[in-house]
Amino acid sequence: MENIAHIPTRMLINGELVEASDGKTFAVHNPATREVSAHVPEASADDTNAAVAAAKAAFPSWSALGGAKRARYLKRLAALICENKEELARLDAISMGMPVSTHHYAAAAATNFEHYSEAWPSIQGQASVNTPGMVTMTLRQPYGVVALIIPWNAPCLFLGTKSAPALITGNTVVLKSSEKAPLAVARIAELVKEAGFPPGVFNIISGHGIPSGQVLSRHMDVRVLSFTGSSRTGKLIQEEAARTNLKKVILELGGKSPALIFEDANLEKAVAQTYFSVQLNSGQVCMANSRIYVQKSIAAQFVEAFKAKSASSTRPGNPLDKGTNHGPQADEVQYRNVLAYIEEGKKSGTLAQGGGKTAVEGTKGFFVEPTVFLDTPETARIMKEEVFGPVVIINTFETEAEVVAKANDTEFGLYASVYTRNVNRAMRVAKALESGYVGVNCTSPTTGIDLPFGGYKSSGQGREGWLYSMDNFLETKSVIMQIGEE
Ligand code: NAD
Repeated sequence: MENIAHIPTRMLINGELVEASDGKTFAVHNPATREVSAHVPEASADDTNAAVAAAKAAFPSWSALGGAKRARYLKRLAALICENKEELARLDAISMGMPVSTHHYAAAAATNFEHYSEAWPSIQGQASVNTPGMVTMTLRQPYGVVALIIPWNAPCLFLGTKSAPALITGNTVVLKSSEKAPLAVARIAELVKEAGFPPGVFNIISGHGIPSGQVLSRHMDVRVLSFTGSSRTGKLIQEEAARTNLKKVILELGGKSPALIFEDANLEKAVAQTYFSVQLNSGQVCMANSRIYVQKSIAAQFVEAFKAKSASSTRPGNPLDKGTNHGPQADEVQYRNVLAYIEEGKKSGTLAQGGGKTAVEGTKGFFVEPTVFLDTPETARIMKEEVFGPVVIINTFETEAEVVAKANDTEFGLYASVYTRNVNRAMRVAKALESGYVGVNCTSPTTGIDLPFGGYKSSGQGREGWLYSMDNFLETKSVIMQIGEE
């Protein structure tokens, strides 16, 4: 395999790097070439149960260890991920096609382990003497076994943002990677072992939604399940949790994010940033601004500038080449989905740029051209559903009330942005948008490091972030103690 001497595939269960117990594997293909990159273990129900049992057995001593000692393992893992970040980028490139030039996710994972290794002193309850004759207090304690199910579009990032806060708070973890991008995660499993985590504390399995994802959702010993992925799967997980042990479920789901461009906006900046938002990772980003609304008076100018920016900035090619910034779609299923949406888009709106596959010399990869549609009815399927490809719809508006209503007319609410130089309007619109995140004169993927991230409506429930994620993994216990005379 190109430039990659060792392709890791094994799972980490109870401190051992293992194959599936029944020997089953599934093939992972390089989406730039369609060649097989690796055969990866398909965790069986037994393997998944074994990982949960190992996590359960490891919980008492891990939770009793105390924050400062747990932190040492996280720090070691942060350093190992950082040392191996280029290899991790290459492993994602040959499984889900993200160009190495835009892969900052391993570094982000390392930063998360580093951050949470310092965050344990803030695991605190409260105390009061407001109740006469009593001292009252709250204790913040770990839940036990936490399951983490992650998608393929940024595996290292989600591994870091979820497992670091779960572990530092004293929980033990079973993480399932996506069947489309298990290789970088399998490498991190090796690094977890190298960092010396006690057996069972951090288990990592690979496989499809069924069986392993479903077993985790139904498991009576899993107390929290944190999921990032599609709204469809999120609903299934929520159902399984409700039918079994009412485990706490945190859901980070899909989006159909709008960008609102008013006539007084900095046009050049708005064009560059909205283009980047929907092109990054070939449009396979939950918060990509896939709907752009431009005020009518500047629409023609905006569209021309957007097309020119896309034509001059998009560099499709082998994701392993440092000059490439536009990789293939993650696999054949994603590729066919995106092309089908594009065909439907041609019927509902006006195609202004792109509209099909990109031929990249010397490859048979799943490349799709950055595509722009204009004048698409608000009710069209392509306006309502997440395409998860480099496809943007640019529509127009005349008034603020009109564009806010259009932006909010969706089941999703992950990220919205507004471009204007009018501060009052910026804040009015930010307040009116039904979205977990709002960018003013900026758009996704711009985020604030200490802000919560999460969706309104069907984009999810719960929030993640440096000041928020530890709460997801801590129970609150009230203790009331009488201090009056006997
Ligand atoms: P997906 O829902 O198909 O899969 C996500 C994970 O769920 C995978 O590990 C998969 O194996 C597992 N899974 C599938 N069926 C399951 C089941 N029945 N029970 C348990 N687990 C199951 O999503 P995907 O295609 O991997 O990822 C893309 C989606 O993720 C997009 O909708 C995107 O918007 C969303 N996403 C959201 C965020 C966010 O933070 N809100 C971030 C990235 C991606």
